[in-house]
Amino acid sequence: MCGILGYTGHRESAEILLNGLEKLEYRGYDSAGLAVNDGENINVIKNKGRIKSLREKINNNLPGTCGIGHTRWATHGEPSDTNAHPLWSDDKSVVAVHNGIVENYKELKSFLGENGYKFYSQTDTEAAVKLLDYFYKRTKSPLNAITEAIKKIEGSYCFVILFKDFPDEVWGVRKDLPLIAGQGKDESFLASDVSAILQDTRQVYYLDNFEIVRLKKNDVRFFDETGHAKYKKLSTVTWDSQAAERGGFEHFMMKEIHEQARAVKDTFRSVFKNGEFDLSECNLDDESIRKISQIYVIACGSAYHAGYAAQYILEDLTGIPVRIELASEFRYRKMPLDKSALAIIISQSGETADTLAAMRLAKNHGIKTLAIVNVVGSTIAREADSVFYTLAGPEIAVATTKAYSSQLIACYILAVQFARAKNMIDEAKYKYFIDEIQKLPGKIDEILDEKERIRELAEKFVDSQNAFYLGRNIDYAVAMEGSLKMKEISYVHSEAIAAGEMKHGPISLIERGMLVTGIMTQKNLLPKIASNMLEAKSRGAFLLCIMMRGSEVLKDEADFVFQIPETEELFAATLAVIPLQLLGYYVAVARKLDVDKPRNLAKSVTVE
Ligand code: GLU
Repeated sequence: MCGILGYTGHRESAEILLNGLEKLEYRGYDSAGLAVNDGENINVIKNKGRIKSLREKINNNLPGTCGIGHTRWATHGEPSDTNAHPLWSDDKSVVAVHNGIVENYKELKSFLGENGYKFYSQTDTEAAVKLLDYFYKRTKSPLNAITEAIKKIEGSYCFVILFKDFPDEVWGVRKDLPLIAGQGKDESFLASDVSAILQDTRQVYYLDNFEIVRLKKNDVRFFDETGHAKYKKLSTVTWDSQAAERGGFEHFMMKEIHEQARAVKDTFRSVFKNGEFDLSECNLDDESIRKISQIYVIACGSAYHAGYAAQYILEDLTGIPVRIELASEFRYRKMPLDKSALAIIISQSGETADTLAAMRLAKNHGIKTLAIVNVVGSTIAREADSVFYTLAGPEIAVATTKAYSSQLIACYILAVQFARAKNMIDEAKYKYFIDEIQKLPGKIDEILDEKERIRELAEKFVDSQNAFYLGRNIDYAVAMEGSLKMKEISYVHSEAIAAGEMKHGPISLIERGMLVTGIMTQKNLLPKIASNMLEAKSRGAFLLCIMMRGSEVLKDEADFVFQIPETEELFAATLAVIPLQLLGYYVAVARKLDVDKPRNLAKSVTVE
């Protein structure tokens, strides 16, 4: 999920790799490391923590002109010196760094275990490195080792590899995560992110899925997944280094909006095994699920909004009563707590102060806690009884998008699995839900294809003072998130209103031209929300309706309709939120605001 580098050439590699890794620091990481071939051996230096401390640890003492580097964002195994990359085979003849996730690492470990391999780290990566070694020992060819290994490795990856017997070569391969090869004069580079090598070269090759690359200092060569040589076209990078960091997008927020399909897919695939969800790593077997008499969902900010949607889904599918609680309220509330409850704690950073305190309180009451967290090894992840990691990867923009979307997916998975464990749904329904969740990433991308329409709309509201977001049920939860996106980055005062509450006060604030967005995905509630929207229109509001394709309600009365692809209603939040993220974003851009770093806000709220 983080940064990856390779270098071979005429200069000492450690310094080049350290400088390159520093260029990737902005992405966030928890550990870093280098491996350099000194002509005889591959030496590795790595640590948990910053590149600065890695530099001190190396202390100009890692000689050689061919090496690899890594900044890690842990997904499997806590951040530690041992789990930091590079990782190696037992005799250090194969040493590699990896971005991404080896989904079938358990199967690979047991296959390798039967063949005498032992494992020293908790990472998924080590299984892949040892698999490369397994095939290398049998073929004595780096290319064959890679083509054989990628036949067996499932997941998303970018590997950069050194083979001790080929001291001036760096090898790489990718699937679903970027890898770029750069050609300089008497030197060549590999990088996960072009910004890391821009100071050295602008001549690059973009690798496609399953393409394999071999670097020598004057020769960059490509092979397809069967090992046949392949021609690739050299491109010249024209971006400046800041645009390169953002993958060509104007802001990290937009980049992350576009990463949502992948984040959702990765989170789904991390628990999807042989056609069903496997929550054994969350310590949730059917027996323990059946004993849950109450669920408390506890969170802050956008995580609270994900939890808010989850309460409806969990109750609908499992019949278990659910309370959604703001962590900052829950922790000071004297409420009778049910000991056979499950507390679901949601936090991107895993360090949110109020959420942590609320989780500790639940634990002190003897309540089992399950954390949905994005940062491996964070305090909440360590202290919770069990963890369901979202695999959104590092999020840089302060306003969350992909972490929120991954939290929703984690909640859907829990709801569907709990429903099956409690015999609330039959196998056909279970498969149907899985299928619907699996289709969400493609539908997210379909919505993003229409982002220009939202940009044009946003420009009309550049001078807005106020905005309302209306919804009922799950749509209300989406309204809360949409409204937050608008206020936090655009500084437009906005409110999310459970549509039935309009008449109890908020309607008096409607003025001519005010933007009122209705989220309208829940079929049985469409007539209800339609009348709330019309009441706003008759007082002069501009109506934006977010509805599913095929829905006709308010099509004529709305001032602007944005249709999302049809989906199972319970999962509609995932799609309905996308145009709202875009709306907040484009209004902020039109107002020339600092989208990624809005005033007064911090990414991780570690104080009360
Ligand atoms: N899954 C690997 C790990 O946890 C790689 C993480 C990354 O992409 O940085 O070690």
